Amino acid sequence: MKAAVAVLKEYFGFSEFRLNQEAIIRAVMQKKDVLALMPTGGGKSVCFQVPALLLDGLTVVISPLIALMKDQVDSLRLNGIEAAFLNSSQTQGEQEEIIEKLNTEKLKLLYLAPERITNFLPFLQNLNIALFAIDEAHCISHWGHDFRPDYLSLSRLKEKFPQVPVIALTATADILTRKDILGKLHLKNPEVFISSFNRANIRYVVEKKRNHLERIVEYLNEHREDSGIIYCLSRKNTEELAAQLQEEGFVAAAYHAGLDNEIRKKRQEQFKRDELKIIVATIAFGMGIDKSNVRFILHVNLPKNIESYYQETGRAGRDGLPSEAILFYSAGDVITLKSFATIEGNEEQSKIMLSKLEQMADYAGSGKCRRETILNYFDEPFKGPCGNCDVCMQSHPIPLFDGTIIAQKVLSAVSRLKERFGIGYVIDFLKGSASEKIWEEHRYLPTFGKGNEYTRDQWRAYIKDLLAQGYLKQSTGEFAVLQLTSAAQEVLYEGKKVLLGVFKRRKKKRKYAKKEKQFLIFLLPWKDAAR
Ligand code: ADP
Ligand code: ZN
Repeated sequence: MKAAVAVLKEYFGFSEFRLNQEAIIRAVMQKKDVLALMPTGGGKSVCFQVPALLLDGLTVVISPLIALMKDQVDSLRLNGIEAAFLNSSQTQGEQEEIIEKLNTEKLKLLYLAPERITNFLPFLQNLNIALFAIDEAHCISHWGHDFRPDYLSLSRLKEKFPQVPVIALTATADILTRKDILGKLHLKNPEVFISSFNRANIRYVVEKKRNHLERIVEYLNEHREDSGIIYCLSRKNTEELAAQLQEEGFVAAAYHAGLDNEIRKKRQEQFKRDELKIIVATIAFGMGIDKSNVRFILHVNLPKNIESYYQETGRAGRDGLPSEAILFYSAGDVITLKSFATIEGNEEQSKIMLSKLEQMADYAGSGKCRRETILNYFDEPFKGPCGNCDVCMQSHPIPLFDGTIIAQKVLSAVSRLKERFGIGYVIDFLKGSASEKIWEEHRYLPTFGKGNEYTRDQWRAYIKDLLAQGYLKQSTGEFAVLQLTSAAQEVLYEGKKVLLGVFKRRKKKRKYAKKEKQFLIFLLPWKDAAR
């Protein structure tokens, strides 16, 4: 399909297609109806913009977000493409001007708000329409997370324009929602394209929310050079947190729908240009933000559903470089959000929203690979460990190094202590603690005090790793003691090699730990022999 690539190069400056773009465009060019699922940032727009330029006639794009429409139209125009939008933000005069352009076939693309469709259909019937593109197509479904009643009027498109192909696009839809989109739009033998939703370069982490200001300050200190978005639930929260961060010396600002339009625009621009490193925002921020080097997304509050969470975190790492999404979780948020999830007078819709909220809370509370949970939620088969979420990194940390001697120390300590003590005590013992009990009973045992070169946190991480890898087990019951497994015997008596993970060492939380930098990766080669 040379022509399409040529258009991609000429108008958009890209030399090749990504993901399913080419196949999608080919199907559209064959006048087939299409449903395209692509992750946020995957490049959905090209899938209808390139055909719009190749096809004879007008492409009508339905998009629910006025701000997004304007952005897209502006950038199309910059690329020399005749595009316009019609929505309620325009004056009568502006609208008439566009109608005139439509009548004289001067436009290739028209962006339309869904609430306009019903009134506009008769007018559109007089035009030469090449293609309908329905962006954020999940909005047509009750099962989706963002149902818009106006989208239902799109059901009539196929009836009024049976010959015009329709492409529906979305970044978030589970199987139920997908089926609903196809059904409601009455697509004819549609081709469905599903790109993988996996964003492998984003690390998903959930942390318990405690002293989140301190934790955020600590995190930002470790990421001084990076830019990121911090999502909060309320406008007030964003302002407070932004002010606190400014006080701590960070270049941060709030963003929410209650701010003056000009201020919002300015902050968004500053963020794009890296003059503003940190945006503290409500969900009002992010739609249509096309910034490639967002390195972290922090959620101070639980999002309403996994769809929103994935969309928001998806704004990180568009350049493919390692990025991080951290959710600070507290059960209290679930209670607050429950009250918002209820949609008055619509019991069925409320139920769906509540169940989505519950699944979001389950994500945060579960011990399963985060990526597996998210991708399976979108019905993408994926089996962890992914190696790049907090859960997988605890149980399968990467990269691995030869930790045989560390393992021997721990295992022999457990053995010397006759498998009668828990993690804390074993660490005390390794570190040669002067506690009375250890001093009196255990200080003459070999390996006592042989572990001073690592901190307690490091030992704890190693012991967790040994547990996860099956060299140790923990008894059940009130006092969990460490016990050896048969794999441990191989390490102790047959010299079996053990690989351990490299852990980030979390600094002790200190208030206003301003200039502290970077986490420590410790890979100290061990010189002494283990005893
Ligand atoms: P989506 O709507 O899927 O979130 P966009 O259509 O906004 O994504 O595209 C995301 C980014 O990817 C944009 O900066 C876009 O210019 C870029 N992009 C799209 N297609 C390609 C491609 N084939 N090669 C390189 N970049 C692309
Ligand atoms: Zn994982």
